[in-house]
Amino acid sequence: MTALDLSVVIPVYNEEANVEPLYVELTAALSDLALDYELIFVEDGSTDATLEELRSICDRDPRVQVLRFSRNYGQTPAIQAGFAHATGRTVVTMDGDLQNDPADIGRLLDRLDEGYDIVAGWRKIRKDTFVTRRIPSVAANWLIRRLVGGGIHDNGCGIKAYRREIVERTHLYSDMHRFLVPMLSLTGGRVTELVVNHRPRQAGRTKYGLSRIWKFALDVVNLKMILRFSSHPAAWFAILGAPLAVFGMAAAGASLYVWVASDGEYPVVAVATALIAFFATIQLVLFGMIAELVVRLGDFKETEPLLLNVETKGIEAGAGI
Ligand code: UDP
Ligand code: MG
Repeated sequence: MTALDLSVVIPVYNEEANVEPLYVELTAALSDLALDYELIFVEDGSTDATLEELRSICDRDPRVQVLRFSRNYGQTPAIQAGFAHATGRTVVTMDGDLQNDPADIGRLLDRLDEGYDIVAGWRKIRKDTFVTRRIPSVAANWLIRRLVGGGIHDNGCGIKAYRREIVERTHLYSDMHRFLVPMLSLTGGRVTELVVNHRPRQAGRTKYGLSRIWKFALDVVNLKMILRFSSHPAAWFAILGAPLAVFGMAAAGASLYVWVASDGEYPVVAVATALIAFFATIQLVLFGMIAELVVRLGDFKETEPLLLNVETKGIEAGAGI
């Protein structure tokens, strides 16, 4: 059992001017809540003085930990590293650029206590640029809702509260932290959202531009595939191979017909077509088997069955089985 109530995980990359004021705001907000907590800053290979700023905070406050990446790996791996180190009963993630408001943490935790696995922040009034941030975000969230689900408005919001069990079962890579809520809701997780305060960036620069759209599109396709195909890949490959098999049989029938009808003329093209179709079918079936193997060995923790809290009324005296 963990002794801490809360771990706050904060990925930071080149946020030298933001970490100190964020720390001050955070400690003020958390002292109001009277919780035992830890702050985990994940320093994602900054090239400015972020690390020095964090070190000076660390020296002052034993509740602060700094994890340091050897280079810039990205926000999602930083969050995953923070998750792996978090020991709190609940875990909150937030951006390190002061755009999220530490004063929202208490409300998120209250909501979590109502019986949710994740409470996602919703930047309903978003203080970001229109063309490069808000329009792509609306489109991305629409696509996630259509293809994956989850039903929340703002998957990209950095501030979210998680039950410890959720954090333990995640294995985030690429930009996957944006899909955690839909993935969890697919496995029956209890997810909800809460409108949070969003503030304009005052110092430092955003780390994302329009180029992330391609990465996002690939991530959505990957995710869709993992979720859809991972339970029975061999079956999906077999479905893919079925028309080829039919086509091969038709080509074989045609070869036979030509051979008989044309008095011994050898139908080279039809025979070759039939053979290619048959071999391609066999290939697909074998691919399917390999895919089954990969899925069985692979690490798809997010799609594992989600165990909700165990409820028991105890065994009544005399109620033998
Ligand atoms: N971040 C990070 N590594 C990266 C990119 C971003 O740790 O490679 C952090 C960044 O320092 C910030 C948070 O992730 O704390 C969100 O990034 P940003 O503010 O640039 O995103 P935006 O708010 O513009 O979507
Ligand atoms: Mg930001």
